[in-house]
Amino acid sequence: DLLISQIAAGEVVERPASVLKELLENSLDAGSKAIQVHLEEGGVKLIRITDDGCGIAKDELALALTRHATSKITSLDDLERVGTLGFRGEALASVASVARLSLTSRERGASHAWKLRGEPAAEPEPAALMAGTVVEMRDLYFNTPARRKFLKSESTEFAHCADAVRRLALTRPDVALSLTHNGRSLFQLAPADAGRRIADILGEEFIGAARNIEAVSGPLTLAGFAIDPTRATDAKDGQYVFVNGRFVRDKIIGHALREAYRDVLHGSRQPAVCLFLNIDPALVDVNVHPAKTEVRFRDSRAVHQFVFHAIQRTLAAPVR
Ligand code: ADP
Ligand code: MG
Repeated sequence: DLLISQIAAGEVVERPASVLKELLENSLDAGSKAIQVHLEEGGVKLIRITDDGCGIAKDELALALTRHATSKITSLDDLERVGTLGFRGEALASVASVARLSLTSRERGASHAWKLRGEPAAEPEPAALMAGTVVEMRDLYFNTPARRKFLKSESTEFAHCADAVRRLALTRPDVALSLTHNGRSLFQLAPADAGRRIADILGEEFIGAARNIEAVSGPLTLAGFAIDPTRATDAKDGQYVFVNGRFVRDKIIGHALREAYRDVLHGSRQPAVCLFLNIDPALVDVNVHPAKTEVRFRDSRAVHQFVFHAIQRTLAAPVR
C-alpha cells in the first residue's frame, strides 16, 4: 500500500534531515561503532550511510522495508520502556515510498553481503561488503513533486542534515562519525569522551566561555555546559538539549533557560547550551510526535524548577 506509506511518510519524512535521522538511529540500534555519512545536494540527491553494525540477514531485507515490520517491539508493554531509538517499524517503508532506497548488508557470519532495492518485487542480489550495512537513499520525492516544492535550498537542507549528525555525535561520543557533502569532508570524529566530543562539535571557544553544569535532584540529573555571557566573546549560538539521550525542543526547558538567563543575557538571543537532562523514563513520554523531538513530562513544573535553579545557581556562582 504505497499510498498509506506515502501518507505516513509525510509525518516521518519531512526533509532529507529527517530521513538521515531515522537512518542514523537504525545504525545505532544495530550496535554500530563507526558510521559514515555521505550526502549530495543537501541530502536530496543522495544520503548514504555506511555502518559497522550487526547487519541484516538476506531473508530480513524485504521485511525491513515493510511497514510495521520492526524487530524492536514484541508487545505493547515494550512501547512504555522502549530502549531503542526507532520502534514504529515504518521509517524505511516510508522512505522507500518517496525515494529510491536500497539496502546492502552483511549479517555477522554470512559469507557475503546482499543488496535489496526498495522496489516492488525486487529480489536480493549478492553484493560485496565486508560487514555492516549501507543504506542508500536517492532522489527524495522523485515521485511526489508536490512535496519536492517544499524543500528549501541545498544549503538549508544540508544545514539541517549537518545538525542531525551533530546531535547524534553529541549523544554518542563513543561512536566514530564522519560527514561528507558533495565530496567534501566536513568532519571526521574519532570516538572520544563526552567533554572532548562537545569541544569537537561546539568548538573550544564555547567550552572556554561556558560554565560546567552538574545538578541532581531526586529522579532528575542535569549535566553539560551553559554559556557564561560575561565570558563569551563570540560564542556560537545553538541550543542542544537532550532528554535521556534524545535531542529535544522543549518549551518547558526553553522557558527555564530563558528565565535563568534573563538578567545576564540581553537581547533576544538564545543562550548557547549543551545540556543532558536525565529523568526516570516513567516520568517522561517520548512518543508525542513521530519525529520525536518533543517530549511530555509527567511533572513539567518540577523539571522547570530544576533546570532553572541548576542554571541560575551555576551562573551566579563565582568563577573558579
Ligand atoms: P524500526 O527502526 O522502527 O524498527 P525501520 O523501518 O527504521 O523500523 O527499520 C526496520 C528494520 O530494519 C529494523 O527493525 C531493523 O531490524 C532493520 N534495520 C534498519 N536499518 C538497519 C541497520 N543499519 N542495521 C541493521 N538493521 C537495520
Ligand atoms: Mg528505525
